[in-house]
Amino acid sequence: MKKMNRIVFGVIGTLVLSLITGCAVKRPLTIDQYPAKQGSLREMTYSPEKTTFSLWSPGADAVTLRLYASNESTEVLKKVKMKHRADGSWTATVWGDQKGKFYTFQVTQASSRWKMQENPGIFATAVGLNGKRAAIIDLSETNPEGWEQDAFHSRIPEKDAIIYELHMRDFSVHPASGIKNKGKFLSLTEHGTLSPEGLKTGIDHLVELGVTHVQILPMYDYASVDESQPDKPQYNWGYDPLNYNVPEGSYSTNAADPLCRIREMKMMIKALHDAGISVIMDVVYNHTFDVENSRFTQTCPDYFYRMNKKGELGNASGCGNETASERVMMHRFIVESAMYWVDEYHIDGFRFDLMGIHDQSTMMDVRRKLDARGANYLLYGEGWAAGAPLYDNNKLAMKANVKQMPGVGAFCDDLRDALRGPFSDDRESAFLDAKPGMEQSIRFGLVGCMPHPDVNMQEVNYSKEPWTVLPTQSINYVSCHDDMMLTDRLKASIALQEGEMERLDKLAQTAILTSQGLPFLWAGEEILRDKKGVHNSYCSPDSINQIDWTLKAQNQDLYQYYRGLIQLRKAHPAFRIGMPEEVRQHMRFLETGDNIVAFVLKDHAGGDEWKDIVVILNSRREAAEVMLPKGKWVTYAADGKCPCEPENKSGIITVSPQSAMILHTR
Ligand code: CA
Repeated sequence: MKKMNRIVFGVIGTLVLSLITGCAVKRPLTIDQYPAKQGSLREMTYSPEKTTFSLWSPGADAVTLRLYASNESTEVLKKVKMKHRADGSWTATVWGDQKGKFYTFQVTQASSRWKMQENPGIFATAVGLNGKRAAIIDLSETNPEGWEQDAFHSRIPEKDAIIYELHMRDFSVHPASGIKNKGKFLSLTEHGTLSPEGLKTGIDHLVELGVTHVQILPMYDYASVDESQPDKPQYNWGYDPLNYNVPEGSYSTNAADPLCRIREMKMMIKALHDAGISVIMDVVYNHTFDVENSRFTQTCPDYFYRMNKKGELGNASGCGNETASERVMMHRFIVESAMYWVDEYHIDGFRFDLMGIHDQSTMMDVRRKLDARGANYLLYGEGWAAGAPLYDNNKLAMKANVKQMPGVGAFCDDLRDALRGPFSDDRESAFLDAKPGMEQSIRFGLVGCMPHPDVNMQEVNYSKEPWTVLPTQSINYVSCHDDMMLTDRLKASIALQEGEMERLDKLAQTAILTSQGLPFLWAGEEILRDKKGVHNSYCSPDSINQIDWTLKAQNQDLYQYYRGLIQLRKAHPAFRIGMPEEVRQHMRFLETGDNIVAFVLKDHAGGDEWKDIVVILNSRREAAEVMLPKGKWVTYAADGKCPCEPENKSGIITVSPQSAMILHTR
C-alpha cells in the first residue's frame, strides 16, 4: 500500500512539476540530438595556479575526475565530481600546482551498452606507460633548444616533393646501421652514422639520397607494443590507434616519463627540418584498436562509430570498426587533432590511412586549416577503404572523388599495378614483365591521372575517367609498406634471369621519378632491401622488417641510379610542372610499339633550361628502336646508368633491353 502511494505521488508530483516548469519529462537525448562542445576539445589546461578539466560526454549521467600520483599507483589522490554544462561537457577545476600528477575520467551512463571504465579521455596530450592514464604536464617544458625558430623552417613546395616512407624501427634497428638509439625517435637525430663498409646510414643517408619529405609510419600512441618491456623484441606498424594526440612510447628512450616521448619526437622533427627534410605524419583516424575500451566509447558510447540500423558496427577498415567523420564531433576531432600536430610538433603534412572512409568535407576542412597556417603543407591519403563504408559513397574521400577535393591527393594504384601487377595476386606481373596492354595505364600515371589528350582512358586498367584536376594530386609509387616490396614482388611474379632484378627496379623507379605526380619511395628500395617475400609484415619480427645496411655497399650501382634520378628531378622543373594546362601542352607521348612508353617534355617545360627532354621506358627483353623527334639529342641516362656518359644522338636510336633512356636537347 505504502509503495503504491509513493508511485501515485511520484507520478502526480512529476505532472505538477511539469506544469509548473512548463517542461515535458526529461528523456535521454538520442545521439543525433547531442549538442556539440563549445571551444576546443582539449581536456586539460595546466597552469601553476590551477588545472582545469573539460570532457565532452553528453550522454553521461555523471562524470568523475580521478587524480593519481603516478601512472601505476592504485591509490586515488582525489575524486572530483565534474559539473555538467549545456554543451554536453563536464568540467572541473583543481586548484594548486598539479604538475606531475596523472588523471582519468570515469563516465557513468546507464544507457550505455558498453561497460564504462576510467580512461584518459579522447584528447590526452601526455600519457604514462602504455597510455593508461593522462599526465598533467607543462608542454612548454618539452621543447628542445631552438624549437621556436623551427616553426619558421622552410617547407618544400608541394610540386617539388619527393616522399620517402619509413618505419622508425626498420630504419635503424639492424646492427649494421651504426645507429645508437635503435628503433627510437632519436635515431633520426644521429649524424655521422656509418655502415660497416663506411657508407652513410640514418639521417645522413636521407640527405645524401636527396629526398625532400619523410612519411613516417604511425608514431602516435598505438596499442600493440607493450611499452613496459623495451628490451623484449616486439614489432608493429602501428595502425592500431590508442591515444591520437600523444607520441608512441616505445619510440622514446623512457616511455614511463610523459615528457620524454614528446621531447624526443620534437628533437627528431627538428633534426629532420635542420637537414632540409619535411615530416609527413601517417594518421589513422578511420578506426581504433578496439571498440569497447576505446577512448571514444568510454567517453561517448556509440557516437564516434558508424553503425547500421541494428546497431551493428561498420567495418570498412577491416579492423572491426569505422569512425563516423560526418558526425560533428568526430569531424572536429580529426581536424583539431591534425592541427594540434601541426602547431605543437611542426608536422608538415599528413598521409590519411584509408582516407576513403572519411567524408570529403572533413578532408577539405583539414586542407583549409592547413592553408590558413601557411604554404606547402602536403595532404593525401589512401583513396579507398578495406570494405564498404556505411555512408554515401559520393560524399566519401575516395580516389574517384579526389577531383572534387583540390589540395588533397591520393595514391595511384593505376600506375603501381600497371608496372608490377595487381594487389590481389602477388604472382601476377605486368609491364615490367613485358606484358602488353599496360602502356595507357602507365601514360595515365605519368601525367598525374588528369585529363590528357594522349591518354586513351578506354585502355586504362582501373580508372575509367581522370580522377585528378592537378597532377600533384596523384601520389606515384611502385611499392610502399603495404604488400610485397618491389624486390619480393619481382621475384614472386617474374622468372628472373641474371641482372633482371636490378634492371627492372631501375626501370620502375624511372617511371616514378620522371612522372608529373608526386614520387613516393619505400625505405630501402634504393639498396635492394627485401622482406623475404612477406606480403603483410605488420607484426613480423625485425628479421623481416629491418633494413640491412650492408646492402648499401653491395648495391651501390642501384643506389647511385636512384640518387641520379632524384638529382635530375630536383635540377629540372620539367619533371614537376604542377599546372595541368602546361602539362597537357608540354608533355606529349611518342608513338611506339608494345612494352615501350616514351614521352617528350618540350619547349622548356616548367621553365626548364633544357629545351626538350625525352624519356623512354623499354620493358622488352630485347633492345628497342625508337624514332627521336627532330633535333640534336644528348643522353643523360642509358643502360642502367643515371647519369651516363653523355652521347650525341639523333634519328632512330636503340634502347637497351629492360632499361630507360633519358635524353635532352639544349
Ligand atoms: Ca603505445
